[in-house]
Amino acid sequence: MNVHYMTTRAKRYMITTITLWLMVVTASAFWNVRQADTSNLETYLENGRSLFNLIVTMREWNSQQGGIYLPVTNNIQPNPYLDVPNRDVTTTSGQELTLVNPAYMTRLIGELAATKDHVKFHITSSNPIRPLNAPADWEASALSAFEQTGKKEFFAYSGEGNSQVFRYMAPLYVQQSCLKCHEKQGYKLDEVRGGISISFPVNIQPHWAIIISHILIGLVVSGLVFFYGRKLDLTLQTMEELSNVDGLTGIRNRRYFDEALDREFSYCLRNNPPLSVAICDIDEFKAYNDAYGHQAGDDCLKRVAQALGEVPRRPGDLVARYGGEEFCIILPTTDAAGALLIGNLLKSKVEALQIPHKLNKVSPFVTISVGLATFHGDELNKIALINKADLALYQAKHSGKNIAILFDDFSDATTN
Ligand code: GH3
Ligand code: MG
Ligand code: MG
Repeated sequence: MNVHYMTTRAKRYMITTITLWLMVVTASAFWNVRQADTSNLETYLENGRSLFNLIVTMREWNSQQGGIYLPVTNNIQPNPYLDVPNRDVTTTSGQELTLVNPAYMTRLIGELAATKDHVKFHITSSNPIRPLNAPADWEASALSAFEQTGKKEFFAYSGEGNSQVFRYMAPLYVQQSCLKCHEKQGYKLDEVRGGISISFPVNIQPHWAIIISHILIGLVVSGLVFFYGRKLDLTLQTMEELSNVDGLTGIRNRRYFDEALDREFSYCLRNNPPLSVAICDIDEFKAYNDAYGHQAGDDCLKRVAQALGEVPRRPGDLVARYGGEEFCIILPTTDAAGALLIGNLLKSKVEALQIPHKLNKVSPFVTISVGLATFHGDELNKIALINKADLALYQAKHSGKNIAILFDDFSDATTN
């Protein structure tokens, strides 16, 4: 099985992209949850205001009539806190009626509402005439805010989970029609004389739709980034690999050779080990093409490339096609003697292939000439080293071919 390892660069890009994406999704989730909370609050607040206004309108209507007379029943008893003349009257037919003022009416409706599991409201004041209208703690603090700071409304959530309620409260101002009953208590026009609180149940759930959709979007896109990022990395690695390989022979190409030589040079300049290079050139190859055809020439190049690739054994050794029918070999940590040994092995290996070459003047088979040069830290650049190996190759060609020659030591060059 072909295991594909991601490059560090790809991993870094992927981690950065996914992290940024998850940060964006998280920020979006928080923002959306906040928006939903704000929108819920506005709806509840609007509800509270509407209910409050409805009650105030009903009270105003009652007040404009100077109160309303209702038959006395079990529920509607004469209001002991209402100290006005003609509070209780009897009709000509003997029906007992009692006066219901705005406060009493609000209380009666509030008591009816309290029996239902829905909206509850409470008329209250910091100084109630009727003790039962005394404010709860939260109502008392809302009232004191209305009275002391001129605040126009109060709202808050209360309770937990399913029993959560929304509380709304706004002040009641003394109007002309109120003074009829309340003037003797010292009420003054337009001052705050209590308020009505409204509570209704609300169902506040965590915003699962927002949270789950964001988690899904976060995970799906991260998965896609990972999946396609991996594919892209594999494609890039393959392309990079191909860009370093010679199309005909399958061995490393000139580009890769140049980069590898740069690396070896830097290493040698720092650590000072010897470095050798070999340039191999097939002898009489133009004639080979002429004799056997271009296709046979290509096949020959492949076989020679493969044979050369089998000679150097160390992990850092590199065989590359330098161009045409020339091959270059990098031999790290190899001195002149070692290089010459390898050069001769290369030469022998190719000849041992016994590829017939009838037009080769030095052998009945395909042969190569090898030029070698060794770097001891004295050369200033790789071009000088290659030039020396090239000069050695030139010398090899002029010494009769099928030979390996080391630049430094032309006279002792070994040929067999
Ligand atoms: P020498 O012994 O001096 O090296 O002679 P030579 O004929 O090998 O040298 P020269 O550089 O004159 O010719 C190299 C020839 O290699 C030219 C071309 O026909 C052949 N050649 C270069 N690249 C390829 C290739 O990719 N395929 C084939 N079939 N032939 C190639
Ligand atoms: Mg050539
Ligand atoms: Mg040649």
